[in-house]
Amino acid sequence: MLDAIVIDDFLNGIGNYVTEPVSVRKLSAMAQMYLEGQAALTHGDPVLYRSWSVEPAPGVDKELAFGLTFLNPGLIGKEYFMTAGHFHRGNGAEVHVIYEGRGLLLMRTRDGEVATKRLEPGTIAYLPSGWAHRTVNVGGEVLKFLCVWPTGLAHDYETIRREGFGCRVIAGLNGPELITAGGYRLRE
Ligand code: ZN
Repeated sequence: MLDAIVIDDFLNGIGNYVTEPVSVRKLSAMAQMYLEGQAALTHGDPVLYRSWSVEPAPGVDKELAFGLTFLNPGLIGKEYFMTAGHFHRGNGAEVHVIYEGRGLLLMRTRDGEVATKRLEPGTIAYLPSGWAHRTVNVGGEVLKFLCVWPTGLAHDYETIRREGFGCRVIAGLNGPELITAGGYRLRE
C-alpha cells in the first residue's frame, strides 16, 4: 500500500515529489464522536485514516487544492471507521472520486437535513456548498478517494464536534444501517 502520494509537478520541471500524510487521525482524536469511543480506547488507539493534501497555488483565486484520504476498515463498537467530518466556511464545493473500497458519504446541512450516497470505485460525488460531509468505510478494505476543493477554503470541524452529524452508520445483521438522530430529516 502507498505510504505517500507522488505529485507530478510537470510545469515547474522539478520532477515528481512525494508528500508524507498531513494528518494521521487516531481514535483518541475523535473518540467522543463514537457511541463506544471511550470504551474502545481502553483496548488500543487505532489509526482510523491518513490524509494528504497539496495546494499548488496557495492564495490564488480560482485555483484548486486536492488531496487523498485512506480510510481504514474497522469498527468502534458497532460503528464503522469514519472521518471526523466538517462544514466549509462560506461558499465552497468539493468533489470526491473513489478509486478503491466501499463506503457511504454522509452529508448534512446546518438546519438539520441529512443525505447519503453510496461510494464504490468509480463514484464521483459532488458536495455542494452548505453541506457538511463525512465518509464512512463500510467495506473490508481501505477506502481510498481523491478530494478536490477551491484554494483558500476554511474548514469548520467544531460544529460537527459539538452537534454530531445527525446520523450514524452501524453494522447491522444485514449490512450497514443508517440511524438518523432526533430533529434531523433524511432526504430520500
Ligand atoms: Zn470538505
